[in-house]
Amino acid sequence: MKITFLGTAAADQIPSPYCNCPRCDYARKHRGKDMRKRCSYLLNDNLLVDMSPDLLAACSMHGVHLMDVKHALVTHSHADHFDATNLVVRKLGFPEHEKPPQLDFIAPPSVMTLLNARGVRDTAMGVRRIPVLPYDQVELPTYQIKAIKATHYPTVGDAVNYMIDDGTSKVLIASDTAVYKEEVWPHLEGMELDQLVIECTVGTNIGFKDGQTRHLSIDGVQTMVEKMREIGAITDKTAICGTHFTHKHCPSHEELSKVLADIGAECAYDGLILEF
Ligand SMILES: [Zn+2]
Ligand SMILES: [Zn+2]
Ligand SMILES: [Zn+2]
Repeated sequence: MKITFLGTAAADQIPSPYCNCPRCDYARKHRGKDMRKRCSYLLNDNLLVDMSPDLLAACSMHGVHLMDVKHALVTHSHADHFDATNLVVRKLGFPEHEKPPQLDFIAPPSVMTLLNARGVRDTAMGVRRIPVLPYDQVELPTYQIKAIKATHYPTVGDAVNYMIDDGTSKVLIASDTAVYKEEVWPHLEGMELDQLVIECTVGTNIGFKDGQTRHLSIDGVQTMVEKMREIGAITDKTAICGTHFTHKHCPSHEELSKVLADIGAECAYDGLILEF
């Protein structure tokens, strides 16, 4: 499997245009891996996880197109993970262009209502909706998908993470979430993931307890990793990569890389490609 990181920031992006904290100023000056757009991930060039408001810009910046994308998995209704404009602009019928393929659109119910609000007409836009709830499994021609219940703002109600198996390897994209509830672990038992992509929104601010009912800090990531190891969801062969960072709690890419390396994880950056 191949994953292209088309964004690695939380909702406010790094640098935030509405912030002049030292971290945002550092990113504006140093650019490169410290510039982070909001998260979308492209798997094998034909499956997207999340469709952030930065998706189109990210495609330009990282030299990718979405003409082969046949499946889109959206995790939850927060605006940094789904902007319906991404569907509207792929509307079929531009006669001078080849049409993109039909899109299986897999998401929890609250995301489906955002399509309705935006006036997305499925047939005209080549969309086939597949609503999911936690623990639903979806069989696609070349993928097996399992929705995992996320611990992410009770008011969202139906946020999920996705476990994706392309027949060659397995990845869990654990974002957005705080530490999983007890009920989740049996669903991950013995999974032996090849890759874990895990959010680290709260970064090094391990004292920010309120935030950790919604997201993970580095110690939250450690708790998740230890539990996953205990139940065989991950093994010594599983690669781990942190993502979804906020300027409020995360240092520079260089510093964050060291912090994540201490727990055996890599630090994602926009444009990173992982193959496993
Ligand atoms: Zn988010
Ligand atoms: Zn800032
Ligand atoms: Zn969120």
